[in-house]
Amino acid sequence: MMNRVPNWIDGRPQPAARGCEMPVVDPATGEQVAMLAASGAEDVAEAQTAAGRAFPAWSARRAPERAELLERLAGLVERDLDRLARLESVDSGKPLALARSVDIPRAAANLRFFAEAVRAWKPDEELRTANSQSLVLRRPAGVAGCISPWNLPLYLFTWKIAPALAAGCTVVAKPSEETPMTAAALGELSAEAGFPAGVLNVVQGRGADAGAAIVADPGIPVITFTGGTATGARIMQVAGPMFKRVALELGGKNPTVVFGDADFDAAVAGAVRAGFQNQGQICLCGSRVLVERGTYARFRDAFVERVRALRVGDPMEAGTDQGSLVSQAHRAKVAAAVERARAEGGRVLCGGGPPEPASLPARVRGGAFWMPTVVEGLPMGCATNQEEIFGPVVTVAPFDGEDEAVALANHSRYGLAANVWTRDHARGLRMAERLDFGIVWINAWLLRDLRVPFGGTKQSGVGREGGDEALRFFTEPKAVTW
Ligand code: NDP
Repeated sequence: MMNRVPNWIDGRPQPAARGCEMPVVDPATGEQVAMLAASGAEDVAEAQTAAGRAFPAWSARRAPERAELLERLAGLVERDLDRLARLESVDSGKPLALARSVDIPRAAANLRFFAEAVRAWKPDEELRTANSQSLVLRRPAGVAGCISPWNLPLYLFTWKIAPALAAGCTVVAKPSEETPMTAAALGELSAEAGFPAGVLNVVQGRGADAGAAIVADPGIPVITFTGGTATGARIMQVAGPMFKRVALELGGKNPTVVFGDADFDAAVAGAVRAGFQNQGQICLCGSRVLVERGTYARFRDAFVERVRALRVGDPMEAGTDQGSLVSQAHRAKVAAAVERARAEGGRVLCGGGPPEPASLPARVRGGAFWMPTVVEGLPMGCATNQEEIFGPVVTVAPFDGEDEAVALANHSRYGLAANVWTRDHARGLRMAERLDFGIVWINAWLLRDLRVPFGGTKQSGVGREGGDEALRFFTEPKAVTW
C-alpha cells in the first residue's frame, strides 16, 4: 500500500503546492488507507508548464518510438498486476478478482492497443481534384487534459492517456479523488518505462479544485472527460467559450432487451452480468431490463434467483461477486434511489437494502455494501427509470413486440449502450438500427473491439473514443492546397 499519494509532475512525485492533503478510504472497511495530495490551480499550472516543455520533443518523436514506450509501460503494468489489482480493490471496494481479471489487464491492453494503432495509423491524407492538390496534415494538438472517474479507475485512465500519448500529445491527467492510487503508480511506472519527464503528469485531488483547474487552464486546449452528465455540462460551460476541443463520455440508463426467442439461459446470465458487474457502477450497465411479455414471468423469476445467488462480501476473498460500493456517500445515494422506487410504487423483488452485518466477515462490517436489487412494476417515465442510479439496482418490465421494445428502450435522455437478446439475427440488426444508442450489443454485453467508436448519443456525451477516432481527436488538422 501507499501511505501518501503524491502528484506526479515533471517526472517526479510532488506534494500539493499548498501542502493540503485529504484521506483515502477503503470503502469496504471504512478505514483510512492513505493521505492524498489535494491539489489546486498551482499544481495544475506546474503540470501544464512541465507538459508544455516536454511537448516539442515528444510530438516530434516518430510514432513507433512513442509506441515502444507505451508497450514498455503495458509490460510493467502486467508485471505489477497483483500490486495494482490490490490497490484498485482497496481504493474502490471492487472484488480483487475483478480487478485482477478485468481492470488491470484491460489497462495494459489499452496501452498496447494504442501503441499498435498509432504504428498503423496514417494521419496525413493526399487529395486531388482536376485543378488542385491537397495535403491534410494532422499534428499533435498540444497538452491534453484527461479527467477520469472512480468506477474503472486505471482502465479508464489509460483509455484516455494512451491515445493522447500515442498521438503525440503530452498529458495532464486527473483520476478521481476516490480512487487515486493506481494512477499514482502509473506515473512512477512511466518513468521506469523511459517516458521523458513532463510527458505524463498526474495531478491528484478534488474534481472541483484540480479537475476544474485543468478545464480552465488556457494552456490545455484539449479536454477528454469521463464522468457524470452534470459535471460534463459544467465542463462545457467553461471550455466552450475558450473554444477547447472537448470529448465527454457521460452517464447511461441502458436497456437490456430480451425477446421471447432468445437463448434463455444466455439472456438471463447476460442480463445479470450487465446489471450488476462492478456493483452496477459501470456507465454501460443494463439497468432497465425489458422482456417480451410471453417470457416475462419466467425470465423475471430466473433473473431474480440468479441475482439472489450473487455473493456480497469481502472484496479480497475469492468467490465474492459483489464488493463494496465506492463510498458511504454513494451508498446513501443508492439507498435514496431505492426509497424513491418504493415511493413510486415499485415492488422490490430482491435486495433493497444493505446486507445483514452478520452475513459479512468482521473485517468489512463497516463497508459501503448494498444488496443487488431488482424492482418491478414501474412505468418507463418515472424517476427510477429515468435517473441514473449507478449502483446495483435494476428494474424489470414487460413489452409487446419490437415497436414497443424500441419505444421503451429509447424513452431516455441518455443514449449510451443497449443490449438485445434474440436468436433472430435480422431482428437484432433491425433493433440496432432503431435504437438511439451509441453502442448496441446483440447477444452480448461489454464485448469490446477497441477499434470501434465508443460513446453515446443525447446526454450520454459528445464525441467518440476508441481506435482512430481517439487518435484523430488528439490532433489538429491542417489543409495545405496548391
Ligand atoms: P463525476 O462527474 O463526479 O467525476 C468524474 C471525474 O471528474 C472525477 O475525476 C472528478 O473528480 C472530476 N470532476 C468533478 N467535478 C469536476 C469539475 N467541476 N471539473 C472537472 N472535473 C471534475 O463522476 P463520478 O466520478 O461520480 O463517476 C460516475 C459518473 O461517471 C456516472 O454518472 C457514470 O455514468 C459516469 N461514467 C461514464 C462513463 C462513460 O464512458 N460514458 C464511464 C464511467 C462513468 P473527483 O471524483 O475527485 O471529484
